[in-house]
Amino acid sequence: MSDTIAAISTAVGPGAMSVVRLSGADALGISDRVFRGREHPSESSHKSVLLGEITGTDHHAIDQVLLLIMRSPNSYTGEDMVEISCHGGIAAPRLVLRRLVEEGARLAEPGEFTKRAFLNGKMDLAQAEAVSELVQALSEKALRVAVRQLKGDLSLRIGRAEAALLKQLALVEANIDFPEDEVETVDRPGLGGELGGIRRGLGSLLSSHGKGRFIKNGIDAVIVGKPNVGKSSLFNSLVGEDRVIVSEMPGTTRDVVDATVAVDGLLVNLHDTAGVLEARDSVEAAAVERTRASLDESDIVLVVMDASSPPDSADAEIIEQSADKCRMIVFNKIDLGDVDGHFGEGPEVRVSALKGQGLEGLLGELRSISEDMVGDLADEIVTNERHAICLGEALEAVERAEVALLEQLPLELVASDLRAALLGLGRITGSNASENLLDEIFSRFCIGK
Ligand code: GDP
Repeated sequence: MSDTIAAISTAVGPGAMSVVRLSGADALGISDRVFRGREHPSESSHKSVLLGEITGTDHHAIDQVLLLIMRSPNSYTGEDMVEISCHGGIAAPRLVLRRLVEEGARLAEPGEFTKRAFLNGKMDLAQAEAVSELVQALSEKALRVAVRQLKGDLSLRIGRAEAALLKQLALVEANIDFPEDEVETVDRPGLGGELGGIRRGLGSLLSSHGKGRFIKNGIDAVIVGKPNVGKSSLFNSLVGEDRVIVSEMPGTTRDVVDATVAVDGLLVNLHDTAGVLEARDSVEAAAVERTRASLDESDIVLVVMDASSPPDSADAEIIEQSADKCRMIVFNKIDLGDVDGHFGEGPEVRVSALKGQGLEGLLGELRSISEDMVGDLADEIVTNERHAICLGEALEAVERAEVALLEQLPLELVASDLRAALLGLGRITGSNASENLLDEIFSRFCIGK
């Protein structure tokens, strides 16, 4: 933490601009040595912007830049920081970074700026993790949830649960510490009621993780159907590019093929499959196995049928195999005729993948199914797997405390369960995070963040 770190914070490659970041005690000193302009960085006030050049050791201009000065403690990391906006591309940001290192900066490790922000108390761990989720967000909803977590909404909710638990723990501990009158003054049913309320709050937060997974990773939709009904054609027209070979030979799509499409602020991961079919050889057997697995793991199933011929027993079997799934039936090839078959279970759409007819309707259905799965985003949503695990531990500990109360077990046990619950919650916001945990979390960040 004592040295000054530097990194290119924008993606390196063709582009108009890049930002090179510098943070630490010597950020302004190093800037003085590499910057030529009307003002000196070390003499500039917080939030000033300086126009000038980064110069090489031989004083030639490396690039024209803007310097943004942020002084401790009012910066992202809490330290003195300088953000150098230079020209984009590859050479300019790299040469600027090299100059900073020549003058004493150390190359930052992944997530090190945010780690410093956390260690300097600028944000808690859940907020720091939101930074990573925010830059990795692929859809509008994932972005919205990450921004809220960064603002501290989730932390606030965890904080409230912690405060409520601490209050009950204090009551219990007071009784453990002063047992001389031998009479337990803890109102066990009353305390149990309070813990029940806390448990329900934590439970509803934990249950939001199902939605959170959809929001963060997308919803898995698998396309199944008899060979030759047009699954690959449908996949391609939804994805908008020829990703799978379309062929007239039945059973030619031998693998599950994936692509992700954005459907109204949500991601849908489409999986094209070999179709559920009787395997004729070992290669097909493996493909059929993968189709089954893909069907099992999916959140939505698109069953494709040929609209121009009446459904047969193979169609019926696929319908049966996907019966317990959230399902949509897609009658394809309506350009060849429409026998108007119905299964009457779940939404049905009629399309022609070849002619591009009805795809809007299909996307509309997909959108409304996905929206139903995610629901509104009014409450906090747990998208992070680690948070869900910690919440689960806290929840179990509260449940154990309730049981201990109910079964008239000693208050020491209740207290130790409440402490375990607090530990679980504390790990989410990082109030008791170990060095190893921090290393593990921040190593997954990108460099410069
Ligand atoms: P899969 O085996 O279910 O993946 O089917 P394919 O996508 O490979 O399509 C099989 C054949 O049906 C190909 O010749 C496609 O061009 C044709 N096909 C797919 N969709 C349509 C459609 O909407 N209308 C017509 N007329 N042909 C289609």
